[in-house]
Amino acid sequence: MRLVFECVECGGHYLPPEGMVYPDGPASPVWCTTCQNTKREAGVREDPLLARVALAAARAALARRAAEAADPAARHDVRPSRPPLSRRARSGPGGVRSKLA
Ligand SMILES: [Zn+2]
Repeated sequence: MRLVFECVECGGHYLPPEGMVYPDGPASPVWCTTCQNTKREAGVREDPLLARVALAAARAALARRAAEAADPAARHDVRPSRPPLSRRARSGPGGVRSKLA
C-alpha cells in the first residue's frame, strides 16, 4: 500500500509512488509535486526533520488503516450522534421568521 501525505505548504493530500521516487527525481514527504517544484525553483530544500516526521506520520496512518481493514470491530464510528431537533428546527423552513413577514 502507498503512503498518503499531506502537503505542509498547500494542505492538499497527495500520493507519491511507493518507492518515493518520481520519474524526474525523489518525492518529498512534506510537499506535493506542485509545491515541491515551486520550492525547487525557489532554491528551498525540505527540512530533514520535517520530512522524517511526515514520513513517520504517513506510516502510522497506513498502519492504522491496515489494522482497521483487518479488524472490522476496530472500525467504530466516533462521530457524536445528532442532537434532537429543536422545536424551531422542526417547524419547517424559516418557521418563526416567516410569521414576521
Ligand atoms: Zn502542496
